[in-house]
Amino acid sequence: MGKTIQEIEENALGDLAKASGLAEVEALSTRYLGRKGELTTFLRNISKMDIDERPAAGKNANLLKVKLDGAFKAAMDRLSDADGDGAFIDVTLPGRPVTRGTLHPVTQVTQEISDVFLRLGFDIVEGPEVETEYYNFEALNIPKYHPARDMQDTFYVSDSILLRTHTSPNQPRVMERVEPPVRMIAPGKVYRCDSDLTHTPMFHQVEGLMVDKNISFGDLKGTLTTFIHEIFDADTSLRFRPSFFPFTEPSAEVDIRCVMCKGKGCRICSKTGWLEVLGAGMVHPAVFENVGYDTDVYTGFAFGMGIERIAMLKYGIDDLRKFFENDMRFLGQF
Ligand SMILES: [Zn+2]
Repeated sequence: MGKTIQEIEENALGDLAKASGLAEVEALSTRYLGRKGELTTFLRNISKMDIDERPAAGKNANLLKVKLDGAFKAAMDRLSDADGDGAFIDVTLPGRPVTRGTLHPVTQVTQEISDVFLRLGFDIVEGPEVETEYYNFEALNIPKYHPARDMQDTFYVSDSILLRTHTSPNQPRVMERVEPPVRMIAPGKVYRCDSDLTHTPMFHQVEGLMVDKNISFGDLKGTLTTFIHEIFDADTSLRFRPSFFPFTEPSAEVDIRCVMCKGKGCRICSKTGWLEVLGAGMVHPAVFENVGYDTDVYTGFAFGMGIERIAMLKYGIDDLRKFFENDMRFLGQF
């Protein structure tokens, strides 16, 4: 009597575990399952067994045949060169990790700014990026020969159509639609013919506008102070410097204590200890007249800031162009 079914199974699986190449596995398959293979021979010899041993032996031998057949085929699949390029696929290698995207820092800061003003009761509005000369300039009290209209600064689409140079056209657009009180911010893209370390042809601004009865410069200062304290540290000090914008009177530029050196003076703040972050002022009566608001009843304030500027100060980034180069090593840090 030859080997038992258990012996054949142990030998076959043991040999397979030691086999390292396709040829070896193929040889094993022939040795056990081939026409003169060990298992085949066992099956053939069942007829010579005791009659009451035959059913169990036949069943077990056939089960083992299916098992070994599967094991040899799986090993051959694993070792064979499936795509014919001379390399076999090792399915046991770990997969490549899928990298997860993050929101662009400009998007993150826009959302943060929006969240602060939403909590202060402001609405968020949007306006067209392709704008008329009227809303970009005239409605905002920027007269025909103002330097801001210069072809060098403005991308013109046609004689009277342009890419908006600021988010301020949202002021007259909103005021034409609704009666006071108005409390809105308008974040979005703006365009200027300009490109260097601190200027890109497209960048982002947030415009803000509040109009009601009895709105004073004190409301402007309070709102912007709250905003700065939310976006930067709660102990960041602000200063308001007199300035000029055609659509506000009086106008101010707002500086914050340098976030890098805390006022001691450094390269970022040009040794002054202060950083300019936004422009603001009380809405010019001429702007109210253009939209039909009664200047005897209503006053308001407006402000605008560059979102990249805020992001640069928040994250200590020194080159504006980094925001638009789409370098994953840079963007992945946020
Ligand atoms: Zn500084």
